[in-house]
Amino acid sequence: MPFTDNRGYKAEPRLLASAEGMHYWTANGRKVLDGAAGLWCVNAGHGRKSIVAAIQRQAAELDYAPTFQLGHPLAFQLAERLRDFFPGALNRSFFTNSGSEAVDSALKIALAYHHSLGREGRSRFVGRQRSYHGVGFGGISVGGIARNTEAFVVLPGVDHLPHTFDLAGAAFSRGQPSARPDLADDLERIVALRGAETIAAVIVEPLAGSTGVLPPPVGYLERLREITARHGILLIFDEVITGFGRLGAATGAARFGVEPDLMAIAKGLTNGAAPMGCVGVSDAIYDAVVGGAPRGIEFFHGYTYSGHPLAAAAALASLELYAEEGLFERALSLEALWEDAAHALADAPHVIDVRNLGLVAGIELEPRAGEPGARALEVFHRCFDEGLLIRVTGDIIALSPPLIVSADQIDEIFGRVAKVLAGID
Ligand code: PLP
Repeated sequence: MPFTDNRGYKAEPRLLASAEGMHYWTANGRKVLDGAAGLWCVNAGHGRKSIVAAIQRQAAELDYAPTFQLGHPLAFQLAERLRDFFPGALNRSFFTNSGSEAVDSALKIALAYHHSLGREGRSRFVGRQRSYHGVGFGGISVGGIARNTEAFVVLPGVDHLPHTFDLAGAAFSRGQPSARPDLADDLERIVALRGAETIAAVIVEPLAGSTGVLPPPVGYLERLREITARHGILLIFDEVITGFGRLGAATGAARFGVEPDLMAIAKGLTNGAAPMGCVGVSDAIYDAVVGGAPRGIEFFHGYTYSGHPLAAAAALASLELYAEEGLFERALSLEALWEDAAHALADAPHVIDVRNLGLVAGIELEPRAGEPGARALEVFHRCFDEGLLIRVTGDIIALSPPLIVSADQIDEIFGRVAKVLAGID
């Protein structure tokens, strides 16, 4: 099982059997409030009729079409629709089946871009500590989680920026922590060390989700953009979590007003209803890679299920639903309420930090001596028993409900977490 304590799980299985709106039901009929949008992906809530119908219709009409030297209309319609979703000049889409594949594809597109311009020397990448970019060999190499690379080999030629988290200086920050654009200046150190002419791209999550909800300090992403642009280095945003309204805007790029050259998305793209990821690509990169190549296949990369008809149908229906219900704006309008509810946990037992942005909150717990992660894992189990799905990573509780969450359900989420925290050692 993925990222699971297999033996622990099989001793005490937790099976989700059905879902609707803000809730799951377990196989034995218990109702569970979804405080995690599944795994950061079900942004419009579960079982949405228009998405279900679109998938059913598409399955009956065209179950599968190869997209190597062929196409089908929905994949192109979706790429067209995503022009409005991606910021600025990101007008081209390359479809994948997951966030991990979107990240690895984005890294390869960055290399292909430099290659097409005769800059083969630009083959290095810069990632960041405490980042998660999925589980492909590219993603774990630029990612900043030691356990994810421990047993594996990684790509050569990768440096990491320092992470932006400052527990001593910025604990209990509301929204973005105070200005630390200087943290991005470490990129200048890497450029001086390696030479700008060796670096293909920098990849960051605008807000790091899986490593514990780390909102970017004020001015940080802006500075990163400025430095990368000055050195001809591409900037990749991994928006697998932050896309589709999670931060109260279509993307983190839109929320922070910073435009990357490439963007990886997945999860909310189909509201979690079908596997799909995508790389948003700037016109300049597309023109160089496709326009600059000799006749024939321009980019030697792709997946059997790139732009799968069922996933494309789910994505188009999801985008329509997000727009119809104004869910990205709704997330923004709930942000203040969400923030207050999250920070009301500041005095709860074991809590050493609360952080938030959009409809995401991270609640960091003091680890038990000698047992890192054990306290939060117990909170996860107890919350589930109390009828609340949360996500934990290390000793951090991450909350990210569907964007249809009501004010009462926000109270319910934080109320149940508070109750559980009060009842554990
Ligand atoms: N990138 C980020 C920022 C993520 O949070 C995730 C998954 O949580 C991924 C990439 C990987 O996505 P997937 O699990 O769909 O491969």
